Amino acid sequence: MYIDIKPTAEKITNNITSRISNLDIQPKLVAVTYKPDDSTISYLKSQQKTSRKFNIKYEIFEAISPQNIFKLLNELSKDNTVHGIFLTHPLPDVNEIEALIQINPDKDVEGRHPYNLGMLAYGNEKFPPCTAEAIIKILEDITNITGKNAVIIGRSTAVGKPLALMLLRKDRSATVTICHTKTQNLENITKNSDIVIAAAGKANLITKNMVKKNSIVIDVGINVVNNKIVGDVSKDTSEIADVTPVPGGVGKITTLLLMEHVVKSVELMLKNSNK
Ligand code: NAD
Repeated sequence: MYIDIKPTAEKITNNITSRISNLDIQPKLVAVTYKPDDSTISYLKSQQKTSRKFNIKYEIFEAISPQNIFKLLNELSKDNTVHGIFLTHPLPDVNEIEALIQINPDKDVEGRHPYNLGMLAYGNEKFPPCTAEAIIKILEDITNITGKNAVIIGRSTAVGKPLALMLLRKDRSATVTICHTKTQNLENITKNSDIVIAAAGKANLITKNMVKKNSIVIDVGINVVNNKIVGDVSKDTSEIADVTPVPGGVGKITTLLLMEHVVKSVELMLKNSNK
């Protein structure tokens, strides 16, 4: 079966709408990019569309050189009219950590600044990475995570590692395994898992014979095959497990949560200015 993510999306949408209606100022999200590839361009378009839906101002800054990225991030961090900064990934020819530390952590709505990732390790989820948070939200809406065996395929700093920290948090307490390209017998691990999260970026990596009956499979992958977007999980897997769709699954919730983080950033800014 495919998992219906509409209830999760609706809940987040209603939450954003209600919180925005309580604000006197219009939130603003900016994206900074450099040599964007096709999938980055498509993600930025989807951010733009979703921002419009919530009446969040949205602007894209395309850097002309690696140095220009640092300058832009610095200026936007100091600009009081900007509440959220999204730096695209991958960034060719750029030291990503050097770029990320230019962002004011209070505007790091994608949760990629080392400060916010460090806080995540302490269980503080002020700005968790949106994709990892999207996976948690979907899971929490359909199951009780506590005590479940969860396997994450992919150890990136953007998805796999922060997700592991979030699943381990005491109030969730999953038993977490992380797999990667050097993992042996992936199938043995996925077959014994209640929750499989596929975030490898490899089409059809997870197939029906690799998962347990009635398990939950979260498909994070975005791959282009024959001009079509597909995930990391083969179609037939949904015959025995509950699988999130691609497109229109994790990605949709991720974009909504990015908007929610921008609203949160405004709320925190206003709260701090009233102190
Ligand atoms: P990445 O390339 O940084 O990391 C991929 C990880 O997968 C690596 O840790 C690698 O070791 C592991 N891996 C690759 N092939 C494997 C294999 N055969 N077996 C086991 N492990 C393997 O990618 P990322 O940024 O973490 O993104 C992963 C996928 O998720 C991509 O397809 C990306 O487009 C997608 N993504 C989706 C969203 C969303 O919102 N839906 C957000 C971010 C990334």
